Amino acid sequence: MTTTAAHIVEVAIPLPLEGHFHYLVPEQLVSRAVPGTRVLVPFGRRKLTGYLLGSAPAASGELKEVLDVLDEAPLFTPDELEFYRWIANYYLHPLGEVIKMALPAGINLVSRYRCETAEDGTPVIREFLAGGRSVRLERFYAALPDPPVKPRGKGLEILEYLQYLCESDENAEVSGADLRARFGTCTPQLNRLVELRAVRTAEREVYRDPFSAQSFGKDQALELNGEQQAAHGRIAEALRGGSFAPFLLHGVTGSGKTEVYLQSIAVALELGRTALVLVPEIALTPQLVGRFKRRFSCGIAVLHSGLSDGERYDEWRRIRRGEAQIVIGARSALFAPLAGIGIIVVDEEHEGSYKQSEGVRYNARDLALVRGKQAGAAVVLGSATPLITSFYAASQGRLTYLKLPNRVRELPMPQTTLLDARGKKGITFLPELANAIEQNLDAGGQTLLFLNRRGFATYLVCEDCGHVMRCPNCEVTLTYHRGKGRHVCHYCDYSLPAPSACPTCQGKEITLLGRGTERVEEEVQELFPLARVARMDRDSTKGKGGHARVLKALEAGDLDILIGTQMIAKGHDFPGVTLVGVISADASLNLPDFRSSERTFQLVTQVMGRAGRGDRPGRVLVQTLAPEHYALSHAVAHDYQGFYEQEIAFREEVGYPPFAHLAALTFSGIDQRQTEGSAQEAARLLRKIKAECRLRVEILGPVTAPLGKVRGRYRWQILIKGRERSELHRVLFHLRGSFSHPSTIRLVIDVDPVEM
Ligand code: ADP
Ligand code: ZN
Repeated sequence: MTTTAAHIVEVAIPLPLEGHFHYLVPEQLVSRAVPGTRVLVPFGRRKLTGYLLGSAPAASGELKEVLDVLDEAPLFTPDELEFYRWIANYYLHPLGEVIKMALPAGINLVSRYRCETAEDGTPVIREFLAGGRSVRLERFYAALPDPPVKPRGKGLEILEYLQYLCESDENAEVSGADLRARFGTCTPQLNRLVELRAVRTAEREVYRDPFSAQSFGKDQALELNGEQQAAHGRIAEALRGGSFAPFLLHGVTGSGKTEVYLQSIAVALELGRTALVLVPEIALTPQLVGRFKRRFSCGIAVLHSGLSDGERYDEWRRIRRGEAQIVIGARSALFAPLAGIGIIVVDEEHEGSYKQSEGVRYNARDLALVRGKQAGAAVVLGSATPLITSFYAASQGRLTYLKLPNRVRELPMPQTTLLDARGKKGITFLPELANAIEQNLDAGGQTLLFLNRRGFATYLVCEDCGHVMRCPNCEVTLTYHRGKGRHVCHYCDYSLPAPSACPTCQGKEITLLGRGTERVEEEVQELFPLARVARMDRDSTKGKGGHARVLKALEAGDLDILIGTQMIAKGHDFPGVTLVGVISADASLNLPDFRSSERTFQLVTQVMGRAGRGDRPGRVLVQTLAPEHYALSHAVAHDYQGFYEQEIAFREEVGYPPFAHLAALTFSGIDQRQTEGSAQEAARLLRKIKAECRLRVEILGPVTAPLGKVRGRYRWQILIKGRERSELHRVLFHLRGSFSHPSTIRLVIDVDPVEM
């Protein structure tokens, strides 16, 4: 057989392997084997699904043949492929895995296609999802003006209903699902009506809108205040210019950032372009979606974690068909197949949740800039507490700085006090906080109490022998959950029933130390027996809608006190909340992470944003063992600039971002010695590469990771710091090319880690 270049293709395989692979396309598949489709290929002794990247130059040696082409049309465009390649390079991750992550998982549910002919003769491709579900097409029914024959029974009821609907609106039609909801099982009657030519049917793809049950009114753009106008003006000007323009929109909560996003998006739409809006998952509430739906009548796609794979795939296809001009979603919405992007908004750009913590460790906030550059779009990073690195980039002119310094409605900032908890061990509420809660209850105000630890108690200690209950798989203590009556590991979910005696010495004096939200809830109920109290954390709000129910109750004034983890610190707007208490601000200050001050500043600022958003001024009390810490003192003084100056000096002194770029290598394995050995060997190799290539990087470690053991695997870490990003990447590329480790060891390369 002679092979021509056109018949050889390059395929990316979604496996942790470097390089792309070449295959031969047999004659009968050539017309369908276009770039962007999935292909079935032999790989070793297996058959795998790969992604066809393009044709490859004639290769020497024996090539295997592509077995099948799995898609009727490309799943990604050349531009998208370029974006995927960028990501693969930057995060040192195999391209096949990047593509797999970027595409909706629901694609893999499609098990076969069938071509059918619709009533008007047009061909319709039906897709069948695995499990026999055919979710693509729904039948719609409408009455014909003069049915020749009258049916009887339920058939007649249905017909009369349809006629009634068509009387007021000749285009009215009802889906089969709606009819079944109204009349019960009625498929035979419907089929009979079709046979009798009493109704007409139409089949169309149904978009299952998770927000369809709600109706959204319409509203209009608000008149912008001077500061909003200035910010909006700059963004609009960039949009009209049509080239890449990155902005940092720095505005306190309630300063009207969202209104600026909305009106900037309106400009992009007027220019015939589209908009991508990224928000932290926690902010992706019906309230926010409602604001967009009321403002815009164009297609809006919403991607959130509550969607099933099938639903997400539906949305993806709708976007690909060009039926949505606005896409709103959490982190992964960055990969929405949206064409003609004019503006990308990253709301709450400082949020850690933009970083994916497994698989391809990308950061959607950073990649928004990459995608925006590729699309020639305006990128608006919005925050009340911008990342230190963002503010620095703005000061260097790499981001255009826009500021909204005031709340829209002249609401005063809440009055905030730090309470010194030193020397008051074991007290949950200092007297100041307890009194404030009481006063607030008397005045009919609502209180939020914030604590970053769920469960009841964080330790169980035996007073006799000092035994502490720890997870056998992870290097952490077990947290006692009273509701479950168990001690639970928050890393691996390992749990044990609560013992009545010490497991080591059988002593009976076992004490629960530390406190979590459950214990605080119990103490609040004891202190304020008449208050209506609820708790919101991962445990209390399991199940669909649990979260929303609590928030609704708060909004409706049916709750006096809500206790929660950071879930309650973010995004929500509760006009009735007039007091916020932080039980302890120290947990986040003491994290072994160079960003712990920044995190704490953000957290306290956010918590303060929850108080006094209504007509009454709010109060915030923060209990801490470190009342003099600059992160806290600047937060309570609403002084971002002051915090920034101190923090940036610290970063410069110790050489952390933005003054250096970081990559973390984590080695993990079941065998402690082997894991350490692998890390040691990598470190030696890294030092050799550094010396040979004369690169200005620092190799730190290896050391045991801050969590030295998780889920039974020991963890060792190497941190690489480089002033120049290119040099950091060169070290990593070299390492990847020359380092091999036993298959029992897992190596994760994290470029720009956010947690260390
Ligand atoms: P942020 O996103 O900064 O928290 P929002 O855009 O949500 O701020 O605005 C806070 C509140 O002020 C919202 O209720 C919004 O409707 C209102 N608002 C925003 N801009 C204006 C304006 N120019 N005139 C009147 N009300 C406004
Ligand atoms: Zn564990």
